Amino acid sequence: MARLPIVGGNWKMNTTRAEARALLGGLRALDGLAGVEVVICPPAPWLGDAADLLAGTTLRVGAQNVHWEPKGAFTGEVAAPMLAGTATYAIVGHSERRHVFHEKPTETNRKLRAVVEAGLRPILAIGERLAEAEAGRTEEVLRRQLTQAFRGFRALPESLVVAYEPVWAIGTGRAATPEDAQARCALVRAILAERFGRAAAEACRIQYGGSVTAQNIEGLAAQPDIDGALVGGASLDAAAFAAICRAVATAG
Ligand code: PEP
Repeated sequence: MARLPIVGGNWKMNTTRAEARALLGGLRALDGLAGVEVVICPPAPWLGDAADLLAGTTLRVGAQNVHWEPKGAFTGEVAAPMLAGTATYAIVGHSERRHVFHEKPTETNRKLRAVVEAGLRPILAIGERLAEAEAGRTEEVLRRQLTQAFRGFRALPESLVVAYEPVWAIGTGRAATPEDAQARCALVRAILAERFGRAAAEACRIQYGGSVTAQNIEGLAAQPDIDGALVGGASLDAAAFAAICRAVATAG
Protein backbone atom coordinates (compact mmCIF):
# COMPACT_ATOMS: atom_id res chain seq x y z
CA MET A 1 0.00 0.00 0.00
CA ALA A 2 1.39 3.41 -0.94
CA ARG A 3 1.96 5.66 2.06
CA LEU A 4 1.69 9.42 1.65
CA PRO A 5 4.93 10.87 3.04
CA ILE A 6 4.61 13.48 5.74
CA VAL A 7 6.97 16.34 6.58
CA GLY A 8 6.63 18.09 9.91
CA GLY A 9 8.21 21.39 10.86
CA ASN A 10 8.91 21.54 14.59
CA TRP A 11 9.69 25.16 15.41
CA LYS A 12 10.41 24.31 19.06
CA MET A 13 10.56 27.44 21.30
CA ASN A 14 11.42 29.83 18.47
CA THR A 15 9.84 32.86 16.73
CA THR A 16 8.18 36.02 17.91
CA ARG A 17 4.57 36.37 16.87
CA ALA A 18 5.58 38.62 13.96
CA GLU A 19 8.24 36.13 12.85
CA ALA A 20 5.76 33.27 13.13
CA ARG A 21 3.18 35.07 11.01
CA ALA A 22 5.79 35.94 8.37
CA LEU A 23 7.00 32.34 8.26
CA LEU A 24 3.45 31.02 8.00
CA GLY A 25 2.81 33.45 5.16
CA GLY A 26 5.85 32.10 3.31
CA LEU A 27 4.80 28.51 3.88
CA ARG A 28 1.47 29.08 2.20
CA ALA A 29 3.41 28.62 -1.05
CA LEU A 30 3.33 24.89 -0.25
CA ASP A 31 -0.47 24.80 -0.53
CA GLY A 32 -1.59 22.07 -2.89
CA LEU A 33 1.81 20.39 -3.14
CA ALA A 34 0.98 16.84 -4.20
CA GLY A 35 2.78 13.75 -2.95
CA VAL A 36 3.42 14.94 0.59
CA GLU A 37 1.47 16.02 3.67
CA VAL A 38 2.92 19.10 5.38
CA VAL A 39 2.42 19.77 9.10
CA ILE A 40 3.53 22.95 10.83
CA CYS A 41 4.15 22.75 14.60
CA PRO A 42 4.65 26.28 15.96
CA PRO A 43 4.96 27.19 19.64
CA ALA A 44 1.63 26.89 21.48
CA PRO A 45 0.86 30.66 21.58
CA TRP A 46 0.95 30.80 17.76
CA LEU A 47 -1.24 27.77 17.12
CA GLY A 48 -4.28 29.97 16.57
CA ASP A 49 -2.36 32.19 14.15
CA ALA A 50 -1.19 29.09 12.30
CA ALA A 51 -4.74 27.73 12.08
CA ASP A 52 -6.00 31.10 10.78
CA LEU A 53 -3.20 31.74 8.29
CA LEU A 54 -3.17 28.17 6.94
CA ALA A 55 -6.98 27.83 6.81
CA GLY A 56 -8.15 26.74 3.39
CA THR A 57 -4.73 25.35 2.46
CA THR A 58 -3.57 21.73 2.43
CA LEU A 59 -1.09 22.45 5.23
CA ARG A 60 -1.92 21.07 8.66
CA VAL A 61 -1.18 22.44 12.10
CA GLY A 62 0.42 20.39 14.86
CA ALA A 63 1.11 20.93 18.56
CA GLN A 64 4.55 20.20 19.97
CA ASN A 65 3.30 18.69 23.22
CA VAL A 66 0.15 18.07 25.26
CA HIS A 67 -0.77 17.22 28.82
CA TRP A 68 -2.40 13.84 29.43
CA GLU A 69 -5.35 15.12 31.48
CA PRO A 70 -8.33 16.65 29.65
CA LYS A 71 -8.53 19.59 32.10
CA GLY A 72 -7.69 20.58 35.64
CA ALA A 73 -5.20 22.28 37.93
CA PHE A 74 -2.10 21.96 35.73
CA THR A 75 -0.78 25.51 35.46
CA GLY A 76 0.91 26.24 32.16
CA GLU A 77 -0.15 23.03 30.45
CA VAL A 78 -2.29 22.51 27.33
CA ALA A 79 -4.85 19.69 27.18
CA ALA A 80 -5.38 17.66 24.02
CA PRO A 81 -9.12 18.46 23.75
CA MET A 82 -8.27 22.19 23.78
CA LEU A 83 -6.36 21.67 20.54
CA ALA A 84 -9.20 20.04 18.64
CA GLY A 85 -10.34 22.45 15.94
CA THR A 86 -6.98 24.23 15.91
CA ALA A 87 -4.43 21.44 15.47
CA THR A 88 -4.68 18.22 13.50
CA TYR A 89 -1.49 16.59 14.81
CA ALA A 90 0.38 16.55 18.11
CA ILE A 91 3.96 15.47 18.69
CA VAL A 92 4.30 13.09 21.63
CA GLY A 93 7.54 11.90 23.22
CA HIS A 94 9.93 14.30 21.53
CA SER A 95 13.44 13.69 22.83
CA GLU A 96 13.54 17.16 24.37
CA ARG A 97 10.43 16.29 26.39
CA ARG A 98 11.98 12.97 27.40
CA HIS A 99 15.50 14.15 28.18
CA VAL A 100 15.31 17.87 28.99
CA PHE A 101 11.97 17.73 30.83
CA HIS A 102 12.41 14.15 32.10
CA GLU A 103 9.11 12.94 30.69
CA LYS A 104 8.58 9.41 31.94
CA PRO A 105 7.54 6.57 29.60
CA THR A 106 4.25 6.28 31.52
CA GLU A 107 3.60 9.96 30.77
CA THR A 108 4.38 9.51 27.08
CA ASN A 109 1.90 6.63 27.08
CA ARG A 110 -0.78 8.75 28.76
CA LYS A 111 -0.18 11.63 26.35
CA LEU A 112 -0.49 9.28 23.40
CA ARG A 113 -3.83 8.04 24.70
CA ALA A 114 -5.01 11.60 25.35
CA VAL A 115 -4.12 12.68 21.83
CA VAL A 116 -5.94 9.75 20.25
CA GLU A 117 -8.97 10.21 22.52
CA ALA A 118 -9.14 13.90 21.55
CA GLY A 119 -9.31 12.93 17.89
CA LEU A 120 -5.88 14.34 17.11
CA ARG A 121 -3.26 12.49 15.10
CA PRO A 122 -0.13 11.64 17.08
CA ILE A 123 3.42 11.94 15.85
CA LEU A 124 5.19 9.61 18.27
CA ALA A 125 8.90 10.44 18.49
CA ILE A 126 11.37 7.78 19.54
CA GLY A 127 15.13 7.43 19.29
CA GLU A 128 18.29 6.34 21.01
CA ARG A 129 20.89 8.52 22.69
CA LEU A 130 24.53 8.60 21.60
CA ALA A 131 25.80 6.35 24.42
CA GLU A 132 23.06 3.84 23.65
CA ALA A 133 23.94 3.85 19.95
CA GLU A 134 27.63 3.45 20.73
CA ALA A 135 26.87 0.55 23.09
CA GLY A 136 24.94 -1.23 20.31
CA ARG A 137 21.68 -0.83 22.22
CA THR A 138 19.62 0.98 19.58
CA GLU A 139 17.25 -1.93 18.89
CA GLU A 140 16.68 -2.51 22.59
CA VAL A 141 15.90 1.18 23.14
CA LEU A 142 13.48 1.43 20.20
CA ARG A 143 11.70 -1.77 21.28
CA ARG A 144 11.39 -0.49 24.82
CA GLN A 145 10.13 2.95 23.81
CA LEU A 146 7.52 1.48 21.46
CA THR A 147 6.38 -1.10 24.02
CA GLN A 148 6.02 1.56 26.69
CA ALA A 149 4.29 4.07 24.42
CA PHE A 150 1.70 1.52 23.26
CA ARG A 151 0.92 0.00 26.65
CA GLY A 152 -2.83 -0.62 26.74
CA PHE A 153 -3.33 -0.10 22.99
CA ARG A 154 -5.22 -2.93 21.30
CA ALA A 155 -4.61 -1.58 17.81
CA LEU A 156 -2.27 0.85 16.13
CA PRO A 157 -4.22 4.11 15.63
CA GLU A 158 -4.60 4.52 11.87
CA SER A 159 -3.56 8.14 11.90
CA LEU A 160 -0.45 7.60 14.02
CA VAL A 161 2.92 8.64 12.62
CA VAL A 162 6.20 7.48 14.15
CA ALA A 163 9.19 9.81 13.99
CA TYR A 164 12.46 7.93 14.35
CA GLU A 165 14.83 10.57 15.68
CA PRO A 166 18.23 9.48 16.95
CA VAL A 167 18.92 11.90 19.79
CA TRP A 168 22.53 12.31 18.71
CA ALA A 169 21.35 13.65 15.35
CA ILE A 170 18.91 16.26 16.65
CA GLY A 171 20.24 19.78 16.30
CA THR A 172 23.82 18.56 15.87
CA GLY A 173 24.23 18.88 12.12
CA ARG A 174 25.11 15.19 12.08
CA ALA A 175 22.25 13.37 10.36
CA ALA A 176 22.10 9.59 10.15
CA THR A 177 23.19 8.21 6.79
CA PRO A 178 20.29 7.23 4.52
CA GLU A 179 21.30 3.57 4.92
CA ASP A 180 21.34 3.70 8.72
CA ALA A 181 18.12 5.69 8.89
CA GLN A 182 16.48 3.18 6.53
CA ALA A 183 17.65 0.25 8.67
CA ARG A 184 16.24 1.84 11.83
CA CYS A 185 12.93 2.79 10.22
CA ALA A 186 12.59 -0.76 8.83
CA LEU A 187 13.29 -2.04 12.35
CA VAL A 188 10.56 0.21 13.76
CA ARG A 189 8.16 -1.14 11.14
CA ALA A 190 9.10 -4.72 12.04
CA ILE A 191 8.49 -4.03 15.74
CA LEU A 192 5.10 -2.49 14.90
CA ALA A 193 4.28 -5.57 12.81
CA GLU A 194 5.10 -7.89 15.73
CA ARG A 195 2.84 -5.90 18.02
CA PHE A 196 -0.03 -4.88 15.71
CA GLY A 197 0.24 -7.07 12.61
CA ARG A 198 1.82 -6.62 9.23
CA ALA A 199 -0.99 -4.67 7.56
CA ALA A 200 -1.08 -2.01 10.27
CA ALA A 201 2.71 -1.68 10.24
CA GLU A 202 2.84 -1.40 6.45
CA ALA A 203 0.23 1.36 6.53
CA CYS A 204 2.01 3.34 9.27
CA ARG A 205 4.07 6.34 8.21
CA ILE A 206 7.55 6.48 9.72
CA GLN A 207 9.51 9.71 9.47
CA TYR A 208 13.21 10.22 9.98
CA GLY A 209 14.25 13.23 12.07
CA GLY A 210 17.63 14.64 13.03
CA SER A 211 19.51 17.43 11.23
CA VAL A 212 17.48 17.09 8.04
CA THR A 213 18.34 19.80 5.53
CA ALA A 214 17.53 20.64 1.93
CA GLN A 215 20.97 19.18 1.12
CA ASN A 216 20.58 15.74 2.72
CA ILE A 217 16.85 15.05 2.34
CA GLU A 218 17.06 13.47 -1.11
CA GLY A 219 18.99 10.39 -0.01
CA LEU A 220 16.82 9.95 3.07
CA ALA A 221 13.53 10.36 1.21
CA ALA A 222 14.55 7.78 -1.38
CA GLN A 223 14.58 5.00 1.25
CA PRO A 224 11.65 2.57 1.14
CA ASP A 225 10.79 2.69 4.85
CA ILE A 226 11.29 6.44 5.33
CA ASP A 227 8.00 8.26 4.80
CA GLY A 228 9.12 11.85 5.18
CA ALA A 229 10.86 13.83 7.89
CA LEU A 230 10.42 15.67 11.15
CA VAL A 231 12.44 18.85 10.75
CA GLY A 232 13.60 21.17 13.52
CA GLY A 233 16.14 23.88 12.67
CA ALA A 234 15.57 23.89 8.91
CA SER A 235 11.82 24.38 9.40
CA LEU A 236 12.47 27.95 10.58
CA ASP A 237 13.58 28.93 7.08
CA ALA A 238 10.62 28.93 4.68
CA ALA A 239 12.80 28.35 1.59
CA ALA A 240 14.76 25.48 3.16
CA PHE A 241 11.63 23.84 4.53
CA ALA A 242 9.84 24.19 1.20
CA ALA A 243 12.81 22.59 -0.57
CA ILE A 244 12.64 19.65 1.87
CA CYS A 245 8.91 19.23 1.29
CA ARG A 246 9.36 19.36 -2.48
CA ALA A 247 12.20 16.83 -2.39
CA VAL A 248 10.06 14.44 -0.35
CA ALA A 249 7.10 14.96 -2.71
CA THR A 250 9.15 14.06 -5.76
CA ALA A 251 10.96 11.12 -4.15
CA GLY A 252 7.80 9.01 -3.95
C1 PEP B 1 13.50 17.87 15.91
O1 PEP B 1 13.37 18.84 16.65
O2 PEP B 1 12.66 16.96 15.94
C2 PEP B 1 14.65 17.83 15.02
C3 PEP B 1 14.81 16.78 14.26
O3 PEP B 1 15.50 18.91 15.03
P1 PEP B 1 16.67 19.21 13.94
O4 PEP B 1 16.07 19.04 12.58
O5 PEP B 1 17.08 20.62 14.23
O6 PEP B 1 17.77 18.22 14.19
